[in-house]
Amino acid sequence: MKKRMMAFTSLLLCTALVSACTKSEPPMSKQGEAAPAPTSGSQASTSPVTLKIFYFDASGNFKADLPIFKKAAEKTNVSLSNVAPTGGDEKQAYNLMLASGDIPDLISYKLGDLNAIAAQGALQPLNELIDKHAPNLKKFLEQRSDVRQAITSPDGKIYTVPFVADGKATTGWFIRKDWLDKLGLQAPKTVDEYYQVLKAFKEKDPNGNGKPDEVPYFNRYTDTGAYQLLPLWDAYHTLYIKDNKIVFGPYEEQYKTGIANIAKWYKEGLIDQEIYTRGGKTRDILLANNIGGSTHDWFASTSNYNTSLKKDVPDLNFIPVAPPASTSGKVVEPGLRAALSGNGWAISAKTKDPVMAIKYFDYWFTEEGRRLWNFGVEGQSYTMVNGKPTFTEQVLSQPNVLGHLQQVYGAQSSSMGVWQDFSYEEQWTNKIALAGIKEYQDNNYISSNYTLPTLTFTESEQKRINELKPSIDTYVTEVSQKWVMGGEGVDANFASYIDQLKKKNVDELLKTYQAAYDRYKSK
Ligand code: CA
Repeated sequence: MKKRMMAFTSLLLCTALVSACTKSEPPMSKQGEAAPAPTSGSQASTSPVTLKIFYFDASGNFKADLPIFKKAAEKTNVSLSNVAPTGGDEKQAYNLMLASGDIPDLISYKLGDLNAIAAQGALQPLNELIDKHAPNLKKFLEQRSDVRQAITSPDGKIYTVPFVADGKATTGWFIRKDWLDKLGLQAPKTVDEYYQVLKAFKEKDPNGNGKPDEVPYFNRYTDTGAYQLLPLWDAYHTLYIKDNKIVFGPYEEQYKTGIANIAKWYKEGLIDQEIYTRGGKTRDILLANNIGGSTHDWFASTSNYNTSLKKDVPDLNFIPVAPPASTSGKVVEPGLRAALSGNGWAISAKTKDPVMAIKYFDYWFTEEGRRLWNFGVEGQSYTMVNGKPTFTEQVLSQPNVLGHLQQVYGAQSSSMGVWQDFSYEEQWTNKIALAGIKEYQDNNYISSNYTLPTLTFTESEQKRINELKPSIDTYVTEVSQKWVMGGEGVDANFASYIDQLKKKNVDELLKTYQAAYDRYKSK
């Protein structure tokens, strides 16, 4: 059934794309017709026009008539009209739009999917358009070669303008400072000290209730929570970059050491016994019950528990600490905010006026457009204070500032091609988190090796990855969990596990990634 559905979808896709392909050249003005007056300033069009866009947003926040789009229309003369349904299944909506043959002027979607339809002629190549008509975007791409490399497709052309995040930090190590103080311990500087601290949390009753109920290390991610400890043994749980090569952490010798130690910690009760099942509410439960000791998680949301639980756990002082040094002495934080989220927008081959469309895209890269997207409308969501956009009290008092900005203003709608400004977030991130972020950034703890750049694959490469990767990932996940939970010894079984990975063509998978990575670096 599933297979039939897929075949059906791809058939629809081809039909639609063929019709998109045949229309390659935008209509030219007829001879003798007066040339249109040139646009001035931030205008993308001399008279008001509406461009159709496909922008799917399951949360229903995105609306083309929100204040920032109205403001942008005043400046550019371009309004948007969204053709995507609100709600339902994203992929299905996207495929239906393509299959209908009624392709809108602009498409906002995942960059990988956009590049796939670009390869079939459905999108405008942007290189020349950017060069001639988008000075702000051009300047940005000159300054950010990482972004330019990532959006250049295997045929050497650019088809998408991506959402570009700002700020590097995401996650860090957190520990109960009040418990350390109570037990007369220092923040752990090494993996051995971290082990000793967790052991003390387990055995010395830091919450003082007379029961051995402390959960020393916990993590809300059921898929990776246990494995976020791996860097302490110089290991990792997915593909990452080492000495400019793509390697697969679970296929390396040190994975054995890492998993064996995690299994030992688990057995000793230093790791939450429910780490594979407790899930999203883990922090809420363990911190509110005053039993959680340490985790590795996002700075902002984790720091917030100090405020939100003030009444329930008055002593709670859950603060970020430097990553404990690994067995080889490396102090590394793998969490890096990827510059590209994987979303962005593109101009369809069917649009009548690609120059107007690229000028509209460019507006969002002007200082004014960027501020509009990041902070909303001046005098409404922010005011200028000492030359800096500063959110109003009304915005800052929202329990969910980001959601508020998106719903009420359209600001921070992240499937657009825009450049985020971290100072938008800084204004409502609490001091504990900001101190942690600063410490991690100033000391260069955050490594870019653990977040692969956005790689673009050829169709045949992508096909092979789709064939190989799920089976490899599933196998690693199953075996690793069995090892951590003590169902099978690591040492006795590691060699046959590596054999299995070889049989699953892990070397070919690595070669495929390496080829894409080499292309990425050479762009
Ligand atoms: Ca206790």
